[in-house]
Amino acid sequence: MAAHDATILRGKEDPALGYLRIATEEAFCPPELVRMWQEMLAGGGDIDPGFESLMGFYLRSTADRPKYIFERLQDLGSLRLEDMDATGIDRQVISLTAPGTQIFGDAATATSVATLANDQLAAACRAHPDRFSGLTAIAPQDPHAAAEEIRRGHDQHGFCGVIVNSHTNGEYLSDPRFWPVFEAAEALDTPIYLHPNTAPRSMIGPLLEAGLDGAIYGFAVETGMHLLRIVTSGAFDRFPRLKLVVGHLGEALPFWLYRLDYMHAATVRAQRYASMKPLQRRVSDYLRENVWYTTSGMAWEPVIQFCRQVLGADRVLYAMDYPYECVPAEVHAQDAMALSPAEMKGFFQSNAEKLFGLPADS
Ligand code: MN
Repeated sequence: MAAHDATILRGKEDPALGYLRIATEEAFCPPELVRMWQEMLAGGGDIDPGFESLMGFYLRSTADRPKYIFERLQDLGSLRLEDMDATGIDRQVISLTAPGTQIFGDAATATSVATLANDQLAAACRAHPDRFSGLTAIAPQDPHAAAEEIRRGHDQHGFCGVIVNSHTNGEYLSDPRFWPVFEAAEALDTPIYLHPNTAPRSMIGPLLEAGLDGAIYGFAVETGMHLLRIVTSGAFDRFPRLKLVVGHLGEALPFWLYRLDYMHAATVRAQRYASMKPLQRRVSDYLRENVWYTTSGMAWEPVIQFCRQVLGADRVLYAMDYPYECVPAEVHAQDAMALSPAEMKGFFQSNAEKLFGLPADS
């Protein structure tokens, strides 16, 4: 949290560093959406328990950390730039924070929030083109409107990908009803960042009971399962050039590659589930060929090196997870990894430039 203790020079300011730092899972929230969430929480009624746990805490608490985070989530100017300057971040790839639009039951409301968020983010990216890039927010509740917004974000706003904050009211992108979203992203060759959300009502019980529903573990359980559902649904056979990005070093899935392949093959052979059909490739092949992985909140060299080893060095990218996590020591830890200068440049800079289609060395 104490971002201003000691300034870390950016790559632009310190050419000897050899790379720019591009942070790829960085959040914002329009003030209008904060107010809508506050009204939902104040309105009582049947509030989603994960939303109540996460945003109920952040928006009602008077402690320092929630205040720090919500002040910065709503800033697309000087506060954010000061923090980037202090922590050595040359560029942020910015996306609408969870649950974004995806908490709304009404598709028209959700779609209008996506438009509002995208217009605000686009204005900030135009004001700071050398520091900010953006991902298109969508409302999956209306998959065809979402596909249209992906095209608008790409063509009119110059956004470099799409953000989906995991499930939408307990529904997953593995359901073909959402596949207009995949179709639009694949056609534009623009990646979809699958970011965590709190678990839906149907799975949050034991996580919430133990205080494990948030970033400590529950996010990874929910989002890792979402990614696996997408793989086993056959979505990548239907959209073989679709690119997904996940944070937190893959929500633990890289550790499971061997077992996923073994058990998926065995389960398909046994014809145990109608929902688990044969796939064209192994589960691990999709996870190595269609998915990229960022280090948000996982600034620990042994697991970063493991992911580079089992997934490929060009698939693992730097992310900070601002403003939820803004820790200079985490930047230092990743600067100090045992990688060659060329590998460091790939990790912090060129993997992101290539994946998101950013101008090189800018
Ligand atoms: Mn995040």
